[in-house]
Amino acid sequence: MNPFQYFQPTEIRFGPGRIAEAGAAAASLGRRCLLVTEPVFPGVAPHQRKVKESLDAAGIPYAHFAGVSPNPTTDVITAGARMAREFRADVVLGMGGGSSMDTAKAVAVESTHEGSCWDYLFFRAAQPTERTLPVVAVTTTSGTGSQVTQVAVVTNTAEKSKSALFHARLYPKISIVDPELMLTVPKRVTASTGFDVLAHAFESYINPGGSPYTDMMALEAMRIVAAWLPAAVDNGAGLEARTRMAWADVLGGLCIANSGVTLFHGIGMAMGGIYPHVAHGEALASVYPAVMRYSWDSSPAKFAAAGRIFDRSLDRLDDAAAAERSPDAIAAFLEKIGLRIGLEDLKIPEDELGALARASLVLPDYKNHPRIAGPDDVYAVLKSSHRSGRGKR
Ligand code: NAD
Repeated sequence: MNPFQYFQPTEIRFGPGRIAEAGAAAASLGRRCLLVTEPVFPGVAPHQRKVKESLDAAGIPYAHFAGVSPNPTTDVITAGARMAREFRADVVLGMGGGSSMDTAKAVAVESTHEGSCWDYLFFRAAQPTERTLPVVAVTTTSGTGSQVTQVAVVTNTAEKSKSALFHARLYPKISIVDPELMLTVPKRVTASTGFDVLAHAFESYINPGGSPYTDMMALEAMRIVAAWLPAAVDNGAGLEARTRMAWADVLGGLCIANSGVTLFHGIGMAMGGIYPHVAHGEALASVYPAVMRYSWDSSPAKFAAAGRIFDRSLDRLDDAAAAERSPDAIAAFLEKIGLRIGLEDLKIPEDELGALARASLVLPDYKNHPRIAGPDDVYAVLKSSHRSGRGKR
């Protein structure tokens, strides 16, 4: 067994109804709170009302920044940071999907540091200091795992680039995971965010930098996704499936915080940077089977174990044969949740695949993949993922 370390400082408060604790959680960390959400719309209006009631009940003054957009941009962060400074916020409460929680984390940095959050990306010399505001994360999707990670993903539209802040100071201090908030997530978003959970678990599992700790959580997360995501997609109002998926999402987040994503996410992040209209989970879904076909034989035991979770008939095969069939198992699962899509479905032009392939190798995620890809490999994967996958196995 390889030596490893595991770090997780976030207090996780999990269970239906726990949104009522959000205000007290913020009040335990500061005296003036910036609430960070998307603009109000019918699906999330009741959740926003509940969080405001809990802030009022805790007696903590707050300002509401409701300017988050999916795949948040540096402009969004700057607007939120300005409001945080003007209000003299000393704690940030981000409520929503990954976009809102990541905005809260990046605002916690930008409002207390020189320049923009883009100056504090994971590879820069300057990094978030102890001035970074504490964050409470309330997740409403299952999900990105952002409620338990040290990551904030941000898009720079001028540079057509999606990158990340990554620092231990960005772990939310308190994370509230209330599955009742997820009952309103639309079908398509349930499928794509649920697939993101699978991706976090699978990639952390095949990442050679993983550990027995993250492997254990990754396998459990994949088992839950296989068993419960189709039910959550079919009946979004079912609390049992939402609760199971919320737990799988937490597990996936704990995995990526301590192991990490691989080539799939490198491609997905590049896609999000160049084509901001593409939902993160859909970007991943479009390339998953092809990247698996490209790499199953570099880690057959792990691809086989994951494949068997999604197709029990692979139990009868040895590891090499089961690993080779694992991309089909995932493709069939994507079909089941209505996400068997190609890049053409995401309106990504075929003549731009070369540029996308090169951009996919900018972030270091691909170096964590068990098979290290070059631009030609990624181009081939993208090319074979372009046509709509529906019905194709
Ligand atoms: P999101 O936050 O963009 O939300 C997706 C859609 O779902 C939005 O239209 C939103 O309005 C809607 N929505 C969210 N909750 C809802 C609810 N309860 N009811 C009804 N509608 C709801 O999507 P996401 O997938 O959660 O987050 C994506 C972002 O997170 C991307 O920028 C991605 O790169 C990033 N990400 C971050 C991490 C991390 O560790 N920080 C990990 C993975 C992805």
